[in-house]
This record gives sequence, C-alpha cells and structure tokens, in this order.
Amino acid sequence: MNDPQRNSDPISAPRELALPLLHSAERLSAESTPLAEQALGPRDIRFVDTLRISVTDRCNFRCLYCMPDEELDWLSRDELLRYEEIVAIARTAISLGVRDFKITGGEPLLRRDLESLVRELRALEGTREISLTSNGMILDRFADPLAKAGVDRVTVSLDTLDPAKFRAITRRGDLEQVWEGIRAAESVGLGPVKINVVAMRTQNLEELAEFAALTRESERTVRFIEFMPLADSQLDERQEFVPYTEIRTLIERVHGPLEPAQRDTGNGPANVFRIPGAPGRIGFIHAMSQPFCATCNRLRLTAEGQLRSCLFDGGEVELKPLVRPHVDSAALRQAFVDCVRLKPDQHRHYGTRQMSQIGG
Ligand code: SAM
Ligand code: SF4
Repeated sequence: MNDPQRNSDPISAPRELALPLLHSAERLSAESTPLAEQALGPRDIRFVDTLRISVTDRCNFRCLYCMPDEELDWLSRDELLRYEEIVAIARTAISLGVRDFKITGGEPLLRRDLESLVRELRALEGTREISLTSNGMILDRFADPLAKAGVDRVTVSLDTLDPAKFRAITRRGDLEQVWEGIRAAESVGLGPVKINVVAMRTQNLEELAEFAALTRESERTVRFIEFMPLADSQLDERQEFVPYTEIRTLIERVHGPLEPAQRDTGNGPANVFRIPGAPGRIGFIHAMSQPFCATCNRLRLTAEGQLRSCLFDGGEVELKPLVRPHVDSAALRQAFVDCVRLKPDQHRHYGTRQMSQIGG
C-alpha cells in the first residue's frame, strides 16, 4: 500500500495530516461487500478484538527504558478522557466486534476510582475479558476491589529479580512490594499472573534463564519483550537490544529445548512455549526482530483520546471531539473503521512517543 503518511515524520506532521483521506467509495466498499467476499485482514475492523485502554500517562516508577527521571509534563485532568467517555468508546468498539479490554498506562492504578471504570466496562453487553497491566507497586491494595469490579487477570512488569537492581531500573520501585502485589492478585483470583520482562543487554541478560525458571514453580507465564526504541528511553537501543533468537538460546541453554504451548486469549502477540513438564509458560514478544503486523488484532486508546492503529507508526484518529461535549456514535464508528485502515504493512523499527503515553 502506498501510504504517504508512512513516509512523513509523524512527530512534526500536523495531526490532520496523520490521517490519509479515505474516499467515500473506499469506505463504503468495506461495509457493503458481503463478509464472505472480503479478505479479512488486520486493516479490517472485524479483525480487531482487543482494545488497549490507557487511563493515565502518570507513573510512580521511572523505568530507564520508558521515561526520564524528571521534568515530566503530565497531562492535566481535563486533557484525560473521562470514564464515561472511555465507556462510550468501548461501547462503540464492542458494536464493531471488540471483546477484550486491556487497561494500562502509565501506571493504571494511579487513576482514581479505577474500579468504577472496570465495573462499567464489565456491565457492557459483549465484554469478554478485562485485563490490567501494572508495575505491581500498589497492587496489593487494589487487587481485591479490582477483582470484585470485574478484572479477570493481571500482567505485572518485572525486569530483574534483584532488589537493588530493581530499584536502579525503576528508579522508584520496591521489589518485595511488587511480589506482595503479585501474591495479592493471585489470592483473589487474578492469576496466574503474567510477568513481563524487557530483555536488556546491560541490565538483565544474565537473569533471563532465572526468569524462565519461575515457570517451573507455578502456572505463571513469563513473557520476554524485545527492547523497543521508543521516545524518551534513557537507554541506548543499539547497546541494549537483545533479539528473540538470542533470548531463546540463552533460556534453552539452561532449560533445554522449549516446546510449543497452547495460547490463551491473554497472550496477545506473544509466541508461547513451555519448558517440558513445567506448569507455567514462556512467551516471546518479538515486535522488533519479527514483527507480527499481519496478524495484529488490536487498537490502542491513549489517555487523552487518540485511537492508535499501531504502537510504532503514527497513524491515529482523535476521538475526544467525538465524545466531548456529546457522544457522536456514528462518527465514532467511522473513526474506528478509519483508524484500522492506518495499520502499516509492517511497522518501522522505532516509535515516536513513549510507551507510557501510548499505553504499552
Ligand atoms: N506501568 C505498567 C507496567 O509497567 O506494566 C503499564 C504500562 S507499561 C508502558 C506496559 C509495558 O510496556 C510494560 O511491560 C513495560 O515493561 C513495557 N515497556 C515500556 N517501555 C518499553 C520499551 N521501550 N521496550 C519494551 N517494552 C517496554
Ligand atoms: Fe511506569 Fe510502566 Fe513506564 Fe515503568 S514501564 S515507567 S512502570 S509506565
């Protein structure tokens, strides 16, 4: 596809230019062609079943690979989508086939009264699964109310098993407190918890096999994520990046060949394996070395209301004007159809905004 937007710099391009114009004939054809005659693919809205919802750009950590330590320019309260606006967007998403919601941020547990958003999403007819990605630091307090409100499961990010290193990578975190959060989540039925590990050459390479060993002891899934060079990372991508094949070799050298494991709805883009006989699973998210754009079935809603087609490429549609001051359901539906058309054939190997802003 010759998409002019992919050749421009999405950071400097005015927002309107971020949207290639779709001709009305093109729009109509997707809706009027019978389902059986259309090739389903990632640019077809019916292929999308997951919406990642970022509820805040704020965080109580400052992970080296995610954001700077200081001088952060957080969104104001008014800039954030309100819960009723998010719910209106979620309702539209469901009407188009979305079934799963993943709540993220920033640190989603910092958003006040997150339980009430979860309750409203759970009450929507058509919601299948609600999951949450958290750094775990205050999860012990929120696990129970969130489970009662309707969260099904939790993913916690954890890049080292060493408390001092954990403090250094997160610049704020307390590893024991995060384990407390994981245990609390599992004790109220939000488990087995998935653990996200960003592989970094200078930070945790020697611990990757140890992380894999966690899957021998419990049903937790440990997912290894390739380092992604997004804006505001404080680490040098050329130095830190460890490709999937190398991560896997390091693990197999210690644990032997991995065998393919059954995926579940929560594994998203991860390829899932198992150490033979182990109860837990091992996932790999190799967005950089082996992009999975052709099978991407998700859209992302940023905390301030942009619907993003891709984590990396700049294609996005502004939804806030479509829900504030009034919800325009028809325009929202069209915005979803337009946004999914912006998905790249294959994303470029860099991102222009930080993960905490997009909702990683
Ligand atoms: N604060 C929550 C957390 O850390 O789990 C949710 C948001 S965080 C942006 C979501 C996921 O993105 C985390 O697992 C984090 O490790 C990952 N992430 C952030 N920046 C990344 C980067 N540059 N490369 C790879 N993964 C990254
Ligand atoms: Fe916060 Fe998550 Fe980014 Fe770490 S990765 S700074 S916990 S948003």
